[in-house]
Amino acid sequence: MKQSSLLEAFLDRPAPNFVLSSSFGNDSLAMLQWAVEAGLPQRHRCVTLYSDTGWAHRDWAARVEQYEAWARAQGFETARTSSVGMLALVERERGWPRHGMQFCTEHLKVLPAQAWMELVDPSARATVMIGKRRAESSKRADTPEYIASSAQSGGRRVWHPLYAHSHAERDALLQRAGVAVLPHRSDECFPCVNAGKEDIKRLTEDRIALIEGHEAKLGNTKKGSPRTMYRPERKRGATGIRAIVRWSHSKRGGFDMADFTGPSETETGCDGGWCAA
Ligand code: SF4
Repeated sequence: MKQSSLLEAFLDRPAPNFVLSSSFGNDSLAMLQWAVEAGLPQRHRCVTLYSDTGWAHRDWAARVEQYEAWARAQGFETARTSSVGMLALVERERGWPRHGMQFCTEHLKVLPAQAWMELVDPSARATVMIGKRRAESSKRADTPEYIASSAQSGGRRVWHPLYAHSHAERDALLQRAGVAVLPHRSDECFPCVNAGKEDIKRLTEDRIALIEGHEAKLGNTKKGSPRTMYRPERKRGATGIRAIVRWSHSKRGGFDMADFTGPSETETGCDGGWCAA
C-alpha cells in the first residue's frame, strides 16, 4: 500500500488513543505483545507507526510486512511514515550524520512522526508508546516509565511500558508472541551511523558499494578530510567503508591499533526516541 493511501485511511477519523513506535525489532515487538496481554488493542484505538528511513536492510521490508500483518490480527492498526531517505539527506547536508551530529534521527524519524501525528491527532491527546528499556545500556538506565509531555513527540505523553523489563522478560514476551529473538538490533537503518563491529560485519557487498559510491560523491571537506560514513578516529584510522569492513573483522589490536577496546555504548545505539529497537 502506498504511503498516501495509508495516511488517508487515518484522516477524518477519531484520533488514536495510543501510537506505538514500531521498528519491528525485538523491543518494539515485545512491547506490542505486552500491549496485547494488557488488552490495549482490544479496548482502545492503537496504531503501530513504522519509520521508513529509506535505509533499511534489503530483507527488512518483508519483516515489516509480516509483523504488521501479525499486529493487525491482534487488533492494532498499522501506519508508516516516509522521509527524504538517508542518502538524499546525506547529499543535502553534504556529509554523514554521526554521534554528536545525529541529524538522521530528526529527519528520518522524529519529524516525519511528528507530522503524521499532527495530522491524525491534532489535539495531541494520544499517548506515544516506545519500547525503551533500562536494561539496554547504562545510557538508558534512567529511562522513566512516563514522560508527561515530550517535545520529541509533539507534546504528547510518552509511555515506556517495558522500562523495567530485563532481557529475559523481553524474550519471554517475544516467545509468547511466537517471534524468534533477533541476534542484532533493528535493521530499519542498515547500517546505523552508530554501528559497532558486529553490525558492520553483516554488511553485504551491495550496501558496501552503495556507501562507497556516496563517499566518493561527497568528496573531501574544505580541510581535505574525506567525507566518510564513519569517522576514522573512532575506528582506529580506518578511512572509507571498505577499510571499515576490514576493521570490523580485525581482532582487538589486529588492525592498526594497540589498545582498541571496542565501540562504546553510544556508538552501538541510537538515542532517538524513535530509534528504539
Ligand atoms: S537508527 Fe542510526 S542511522 Fe537510523 S536514524 Fe537512528 S541513529 Fe540514525
